[in-house]
Amino acid sequence: MSTNPTRRAWVQIDGGALRRNYGRIVESAGPEVRILPMVKADAYGLGVADVVSCLAPLGPWGWGVATVPEGARLRDLAVERPIVVCSPVPPDELEEVVRLELQPTISSLEALEALERAASTVGVRATWHLDVDTGMGRSGFDFGSVDAWIDAATAPREVLRWAGLCTHLHSADEDAQSIHAQWERLAGVLDRIDPGAVPADGLLVHVLNSAGAFRAPEYACSVVRPGIFLYGGGIGSGQPEPEPVVSVHARVVHVRDAEPGATLGYGSTYSASRPERWATLSIGYGDGLPRALSNRGAALVNGRRVPVVGRISMDVTVVDVSGVEDVAAGSVATLIGSQDDGRITLDDVAGRAGTIGYEILTGLTDRLPRVWT
Ligand SMILES: *Cc1c(COP(=O)(O)O)cnc(C)c1O
Repeated sequence: MSTNPTRRAWVQIDGGALRRNYGRIVESAGPEVRILPMVKADAYGLGVADVVSCLAPLGPWGWGVATVPEGARLRDLAVERPIVVCSPVPPDELEEVVRLELQPTISSLEALEALERAASTVGVRATWHLDVDTGMGRSGFDFGSVDAWIDAATAPREVLRWAGLCTHLHSADEDAQSIHAQWERLAGVLDRIDPGAVPADGLLVHVLNSAGAFRAPEYACSVVRPGIFLYGGGIGSGQPEPEPVVSVHARVVHVRDAEPGATLGYGSTYSASRPERWATLSIGYGDGLPRALSNRGAALVNGRRVPVVGRISMDVTVVDVSGVEDVAAGSVATLIGSQDDGRITLDDVAGRAGTIGYEILTGLTDRLPRVWT
């Protein structure tokens, strides 16, 4: 069977742009700083295997994931570098963490003790990072009660190896001041660490996400954890723009002339107000095109920007191509990306759909083949 991935609808990924975006993170953070590309959620929907092979030659220190299965997947792909699990792990997955030599971020003494038990059971020394909550509120030891936990958390434990200290920024894309405030809180914790507890090869301190890596590179410390910028998502107004990496395309599969009054789509939320020409695109919310773009979104067809009309269905979406020359079944429509001078960015689409680029990317479903260039 021959399958042409560009037949119906597909995601196109520009590996060169991904690498150049990585290079700009390195430039901003500085050459000494290690990079931990975040490849959680199938590398933000791009496909983790391909992202890892694209970026591995650039020498990242390790890879960041959110879940244990994501770490297991990387080990299956023969990744040998450090893998840091950046979200808290359910207790019954800790033995697998140890077996796979994943590096969990730990948020409480209970979790640390559970990791210690898992490491004893498996019989392997586990490397871990201490997560500090400096305002995100969803994980980490509380910075404010540092005296209550710091000595117990950092005391040497035979089956554990303490490798790092991290926190996560809550508003780096919006507000530089918040970054400084969170840093001050982390610095208060750093000050309280007994120098004798610090590992001989030093402590890896990591704070910055993509937005932080540009807005406050002075806090790059040992490691930065970029995600969205690598994949072409914006990091806030007035900030450097990444090169676009992901584009989304679909074929026109049907074209019809609509008389005034002709109704369109579920709920007949749209009807032709004049003689119109409608083109049906073979992509819908079942592919990850947000239904919120119904009667609001746009596409590029033959280089022209055309509006989405009617409700987006699971499998198809209709655009008004009145006045666009030569639209026929087989024409390519671009939902995210460029055609000639026309451009629809990931963040345009996200804004119109009332969400963020992260959710658009991670929402693109398996129905869309990922085509790398
Ligand atoms: C997802 C994530 C990042 C990356 O954030 P971006 O905004 O995508 O750069 C960094 N650190 C942690 C802990 C994360 O969960």
